[in-house]
Amino acid sequence: MIYLKMEDLPAFTNTPVDSIPAIHARVANKFHSHATRPIEYRQKQLRALYWGLKDEEPALLEALKLDLGKSAYEAYLAEVGWVLNDVLFMEKNLERFMKDEKPEDIDLQNMALRPRIRKDPLGAVLIIGAFNFPLQLSLGPLIGAIAAGCTAVLKPSENAPNAARIMQHIIQNSLDPDAYQVVQGGIPETTALMEQKWDKIFYTGSANVGTIIAKKAAETLTPVTLELGGRNPAFITKNADPRLAARRLLWAKLMNAGQVCVSQNYILIDEEILPAFLHHLKLALQEFHPSGAEDNPDYSHIINERQFLRLQSLLASTTGEILLGGKTNQSTLFIEPTVIRVSSPTDPLLTNESFGPLIPILPYTSLPAAIATANAIHPTPLGIYPFGSRAETDLILSQTRSGGASVNDGFFHASIPTLAFGGVGDSGHGAYRGRASFECFSHRRSVTTTPGWVEGLLAVRYPPYSEAKLRKF
Ligand code: NAD
Repeated sequence: MIYLKMEDLPAFTNTPVDSIPAIHARVANKFHSHATRPIEYRQKQLRALYWGLKDEEPALLEALKLDLGKSAYEAYLAEVGWVLNDVLFMEKNLERFMKDEKPEDIDLQNMALRPRIRKDPLGAVLIIGAFNFPLQLSLGPLIGAIAAGCTAVLKPSENAPNAARIMQHIIQNSLDPDAYQVVQGGIPETTALMEQKWDKIFYTGSANVGTIIAKKAAETLTPVTLELGGRNPAFITKNADPRLAARRLLWAKLMNAGQVCVSQNYILIDEEILPAFLHHLKLALQEFHPSGAEDNPDYSHIINERQFLRLQSLLASTTGEILLGGKTNQSTLFIEPTVIRVSSPTDPLLTNESFGPLIPILPYTSLPAAIATANAIHPTPLGIYPFGSRAETDLILSQTRSGGASVNDGFFHASIPTLAFGGVGDSGHGAYRGRASFECFSHRRSVTTTPGWVEGLLAVRYPPYSEAKLRKF
């Protein structure tokens, strides 16, 4: 078999803005034809997406290498294999998810009405993706939309143009073009898309842009799912295992060079355990990158110069002390995993989302005070990572809020395909993955059917009202 190479595909081109209303009309009309509702149609599209992705595995891996320098290992684990697994799961469970649900605790007299919840598709939806995991953050929601019987337009991130090109190629060649379309571009194209009336908008990205999307959607009462950003704390108490904490949190920060919404943005650590933790952090770094991160082909680069310069100036703004790393190279967009000891909770490294391989560490002397610090920096982060005894990690969970949490680990909860993933407060709302992806694009429609034979029983509801009728209730 001759595999497609990225050079065989057309260059990344923005979709003409004036074509966007017609693209919207096309997928909206398809939805209103009701053709996307039968399970057979949805399963056919899911299978086609699976094989479209499977056939182009080499090009998908190549695209991720070009965009982010992602190693084939990471790209398969967190992107290609991840999405393939999600499609298979959805296809396998679709019939079960689509089944009507019975409500709980129905009175005997209401049973005759067969109360039930149908799972109806929301309609024609818009999915806006982010750059850091360009496949899973775009195709994950698309899988949910197809499964729910929706039609969709996908707007991948323009900052990962190769991933955007290969996704467009696969979607164009595998899926029903009247139902599923890709629009390429940045702000002007997304703004033009937002001028259309969608039945749902699924947005992944920064909180700033999320606010723009939510405001615009509110004008037409369009429901939104927002998957937003981090400033996620990790806590290491004096009873934590410093070796495990070091290895696990380092892994969580090295993946994709820290460009992960759920990775820890900073670490709060009990002063007592700091020396042991730093010792193990150094060892783990040597073990994971024996010849240094710069020469490690498995270590991703920063997505583009704009993000590189942002990270460089964020690093320059700290008053903390660099303990490990600190090297940068603009020509290769390389930023070394960098450990910084900071002395204030107002340090810019804590109050801004770094979205890069920076590991600021703030020592504390009291766990309740550390919890208060994290709550003050961001009361509703996307993830929280407490390391310590059961009582300590329970205390942290019970006195904080977050989209999700991994106890004694970095963001591993997000790797479980059937666990709903989403934020809370200003890290987003709504969730997806597994069954939640199907539900995200479905309307739970409550339905009853009143049979003719209950008319006698219903006589009490009709006027004229009387004392005698009232006594029957
Ligand atoms: P971004 O907000 O810059 O871009 C996301 C999408 O929004 C892109 O498709 C982009 O074209 C579009 N966009 C950008 N500006 C816009 C505007 N003014 N109007 C309309 N659309 C616009 O985000 P990013 O840089 O791609 O991703 C990084 C951010 O996303 C981080 O904050 C990260 O934490 C967050 N993120 C969250 C999740 C999650 O699942 N919660 C996942 C990945 C990334």
